[in-house]
Amino acid sequence: MPQSVDAPFWQKKRLDEMNEAEWESLCDGCGRCCLHKLRDEDTGSLEFTNVACRMLDLASCRCRDYPNRRREVPDCVALTPGSLAEIDWLPPSCAYRLIAEGRDLPDWHPLVTGDRRSTHRAGASIAGRAVSERDAGPLEHHVVEWPSRWPRRRTR
Ligand code: SF4
Ligand code: SF4
Repeated sequence: MPQSVDAPFWQKKRLDEMNEAEWESLCDGCGRCCLHKLRDEDTGSLEFTNVACRMLDLASCRCRDYPNRRREVPDCVALTPGSLAEIDWLPPSCAYRLIAEGRDLPDWHPLVTGDRRSTHRAGASIAGRAVSERDAGPLEHHVVEWPSRWPRRRTR
């Protein structure tokens, strides 16, 4: 069904039609994609950990130096409309994944609420449950499932 001309951009445009500002604004700031994963080289299976990249600010859940992140972390993966299809580790609530799958943004997304903190309030971010790779020790000790699940709302 065609979208109304008044519909927000993420409901009207494909990812590859968005301008840079629209593309960047899609990120909800959850920080989940900045957690380390463990890939079994033989089977290709994936496990998630609660260990965050050293560049991630664990309170704000934002990269400490996003424009220059690849200088510090050369293997930081740049999300693009083209690369999304090859990435199998984005969390189910990631806005890029949702739009690529033809779905809408959740009601707590900052573009919907107008408030960047709404991701944290919804329990969708890594705030309060991740540890920096600087302090973590072996990744194998930090395997968790929550990054691969839809966020559960925090109860007061
Ligand atoms: S998982 Fe998606 S929405 Fe969350 S921080 Fe990463 S790119 Fe942004
Ligand atoms: S360099 Fe920044 S954007 Fe890349 S994984 Fe680390 S914290 Fe995330």
